[in-house]
Amino acid sequence: MEIGYNKPYPAGNEIIYIADAVKKQHISGNGYYTKACHRFFEETYQFKKVLLTSSCTDALEMAAILLDIQPGDEIIMPSYTFSSCPNAFILRGARIVFADSLPDHPNMDISSIRSLITPKTRAILAVHYGGTACDMDALMELALEYNLFVIEDAAQAIDSFYKGRPLGGIGHLGCMSFHESKNITCGEGGLLIINDERFAARAEVIWEKGTSRAAFFRGEISRYTWTDIGSSFLPSELNAAFLYAQLERLKDIQDRRLRAWIYYNNALSDLDELQPPMLPGYSTNNAHCFYLICRSGEEKTALESWLKIRGIQALGHYLPLHTSDFFVEKHDGRILPNTDKYADCLIRLPLFYELTPIEQQLIIKSIKDFKQSRANQLGENINMTTRVIPLKYANNDR
Ligand SMILES: *Cc1c(COP(=O)(O)O)cnc(C)c1O
Repeated sequence: MEIGYNKPYPAGNEIIYIADAVKKQHISGNGYYTKACHRFFEETYQFKKVLLTSSCTDALEMAAILLDIQPGDEIIMPSYTFSSCPNAFILRGARIVFADSLPDHPNMDISSIRSLITPKTRAILAVHYGGTACDMDALMELALEYNLFVIEDAAQAIDSFYKGRPLGGIGHLGCMSFHESKNITCGEGGLLIINDERFAARAEVIWEKGTSRAAFFRGEISRYTWTDIGSSFLPSELNAAFLYAQLERLKDIQDRRLRAWIYYNNALSDLDELQPPMLPGYSTNNAHCFYLICRSGEEKTALESWLKIRGIQALGHYLPLHTSDFFVEKHDGRILPNTDKYADCLIRLPLFYELTPIEQQLIIKSIKDFKQSRANQLGENINMTTRVIPLKYANNDR
């Protein structure tokens, strides 16, 4: 039996809606299904304004344009994240200042940010790793004190909440992803969430190649014209139609993923050297990923190979951006030990809608066998049943 890390789940109506978009004879952007997706997000999460984009990367690039980031401006963000985060701002000439992760969670350590703020700092990008919220109250307070913008990278955070507030809806702007690797997908897709109304009108222009086309099609103006910089950030109706079919099934998809996540957590939370995710009480859990944190990079690599031989694809995650080939010369030299730890030691287990309990049992047994084999090798006496760590998945009542 081969168990891959991820398997995109067809929710059912994707092809029907794509056929319908074709029948409606509007397959470019901003048609029926784009509007249906917008309405879904605005109604489900009370987001003030959203715009579907071709990717979360696009949404981040739109955010950088909207904030009018200029050459030399500084943006603070975690090093333990995806290259799209710094790229969006580097494209505008900004300087990136990387912050470390928390000791007990891959999310950025908000308390480490204050010392990184300079007169040139313009914005902070918070990444909600694995759909777990950053401490947004602390972050928004700090941003207010220094008059900084906050952008949420909620790429992995659909349907997850911070103290009852939907992630992506708290900072000035939020960005989401519908890439194949995320809970809800249309292959490649994203969303810009505009929480600060000052950005709403301009966002629509940037979205439509710097023109007033969106207002024109609403009948607000008699002809549309070039009014600003912009790009082609909107997805075609074919992608939006696919996405809408997934959004219709959001609750079921999230429930299934959460069930699988809890199954892992129950079975693996007593392996005290391989730590399951720690979730802070202020965040819900949208079951984007389930990971273990090994004691060393060597142990993580050994576990990855052990599982691979048994047909199970487990994956590490980000390599630190501050020491990447592209950035290492630009970095200010600070050591970010927690970032390095997660890069070396974090391993993600298969998690997708159709993952079965039988497959999970096999994965869990393989991990326990690995532990036993290592214990024998190292002469350790590991009694895996004596230590009980309380369940740490958050309470999902909203
Ligand atoms: C997936 C992801 C992105 C990029 O999303 P795309 O839709 O592929 O552009 C950005 N940031 C984070 C944290 C992600 O997980």
